[in-house]
Amino acid sequence: MRVGVICVDPGHGGSDPGAVGPSGAKEKDINLDIALRLKSLFDERGVLCMLTRDKDEDVELEPRCRIANNGAAEVFVSIHCNAAASRDAYGTEVYCFPGSTKGYQLAKCISNELLPIVPVMRGIKEAEFYVLKNTIMPAVLVEVGFISNYTEEKALQSEGYRQLLAEAVGKGVYAYFGMAWPTPKDKVKVIVKGKEISATLIDGKTWVPLRQLVEAMNYTVEWDEITRTATVK
Ligand code: ZN
Repeated sequence: MRVGVICVDPGHGGSDPGAVGPSGAKEKDINLDIALRLKSLFDERGVLCMLTRDKDEDVELEPRCRIANNGAAEVFVSIHCNAAASRDAYGTEVYCFPGSTKGYQLAKCISNELLPIVPVMRGIKEAEFYVLKNTIMPAVLVEVGFISNYTEEKALQSEGYRQLLAEAVGKGVYAYFGMAWPTPKDKVKVIVKGKEISATLIDGKTWVPLRQLVEAMNYTVEWDEITRTATVK
């Protein structure tokens, strides 16, 4: 099992701000920030993630779908903020294309992960949104919250909350592929007799490339491919 190629689509951008909150937060900025966080989370885990935009620019809906389709993305996740005429509306919705079994499955996985962190999960909904209709892989559109609601706008303006949202979406994508969310491998430094070796911290243990460690200690290492044995001399 593995996690497939992801395409993350931050809604709006450039001359199109999307919805604007009561205190002036722009949907396009929130969407982009969450998408960039999501990409970092996938990058850290070695999962290929493409974005339909990585800066504040105009991108039409058609090229957004083309990026995903031509890039052989295996799932498509569009990030948006909701808005309503009533400032009272709040909560999170995940959309998939009507009748798409896999799209629904992906929506369900993401919704399950969002559930514990959002104020209310308004449910999985179906809509014939352009990006859901014109992408050839399972696709969802996440309305992370109502930017038109005072409290939710404030939450969306917090970095910590956007990080939680990105993590929840990432976990949902992993779950869709039947995979557990891995803890990122922390990069650490090991200094051996003044020589620096880059190492990785996994579950409280430091992992160092054997040859680099051994050679820094002035020993040699021999590798036998047949018995798959490393001998330090
Ligand atoms: Zn939007």
